[in-house]
Amino acid sequence: MNEDFLLMIPGPIPVHPRIFRAMSMKIMPHRGEEFNKLFMEQSERMKKIFKTKNDVFLMAGSGTAAMDAAIANIIQPGDKVLCITSGKFGERFRDIVKAYKGTVVELKYEWGSSINIEDVKKALEKDPSIKAVTMVHNETSTGVRNPVAEIGKIVRSTKALLVVDTISSLGGDNIEVDNWGIDLCASGSQKCIGLPPGMCFISVSQRAWDVIEKTDGTCYYLNLKKYKNNKYKAPYTQPVSMTYGLKEALDIIDEYGLENWIKKHEKLAKATREAAKTLGLKLFPQDETTCSNTVTSIKVPEGIDGQELVKLMRENHGIIIAGGQDHLKGKIIRIGHMGSITKKEIIVTMACLQMTLKDLGYKTELAPILNPISKI
Ligand SMILES: *Cc1c(COP(=O)(O)O)cnc(C)c1O
Repeated sequence: MNEDFLLMIPGPIPVHPRIFRAMSMKIMPHRGEEFNKLFMEQSERMKKIFKTKNDVFLMAGSGTAAMDAAIANIIQPGDKVLCITSGKFGERFRDIVKAYKGTVVELKYEWGSSINIEDVKKALEKDPSIKAVTMVHNETSTGVRNPVAEIGKIVRSTKALLVVDTISSLGGDNIEVDNWGIDLCASGSQKCIGLPPGMCFISVSQRAWDVIEKTDGTCYYLNLKKYKNNKYKAPYTQPVSMTYGLKEALDIIDEYGLENWIKKHEKLAKATREAAKTLGLKLFPQDETTCSNTVTSIKVPEGIDGQELVKLMRENHGIIIAGGQDHLKGKIIRIGHMGSITKKEIIVTMACLQMTLKDLGYKTELAPILNPISKI
């Protein structure tokens, strides 16, 4: 298999070799004392990343499993959920609610725009029977960061639970589960935490437990009551190797310090945006102040085929970036700068982006040092 590529999509991300070395350790018995001590310690450490005193569970599955768990445990058929959507992942929450036969009240925004807090307030005032509100903190499909803290304040003053997807921002942006009033916070391993795909995380508040205890959820594997009541906080075999990897990933984050790890993401995001603007490109989010810390989405310039751009980046330079999803296919590109990504990967990605755009007929002047390289 050709491994000569650089993965610059918004997750999964290139995994640091330290993590793979840790994961290659022999499998321990999953009910043994040693493994369980390790497992419980990592869930305690995850609380620091979520900035919460709530329970945090580590589960096998990709991020969507945590989203699924968040909904399945609180919704019974007919229960009303306000689903705020402004992209692919907000829509995923809506679809999960539908799958569990909840009644969706959708607050829908154009992809690329941000959520209007007043609309949320009005929707909740209009219908006090709304049991939960779902939203995405960092909408990966558009590169927009949504105002969770402000929405949390509104939701807190009602009986509804706040359910948030932080899959592409946990570790790479500031998340304050307790201060923001997030009742169920779903996240995943393969983005800013720096692990391979395969583990997900969920935090559960006391308000959420009060609802979960009274809800006859239609799930088996993801039944949170079973996780809570299990001696090991995991009713089934844990992803053992991923747990070794998580310890190493959290050690790496600790060595930086969480705030510096977040800062690193912030700096890379800003640099990527500025580099794109220097190339004469336009950012996709309508309001630049809402731009994500972890993924940059850029409009494909007029007259350029976005799908071809992504393809040539891969074929000519071995750099894998993401295109747009659904109706944005061919219209935007997305560059991830999560987890182990550093300045050097951004330098090559943006330089190769410029060369590829030039190959496709975009008017741009290469830096003199790139001229000889572009001819290889
Ligand atoms: C990646 C991502 C998901 C999907 O996670 P999976 O791990 O593929 O299940 C959900 N929401 C957001 C915001 C994401 O970025």
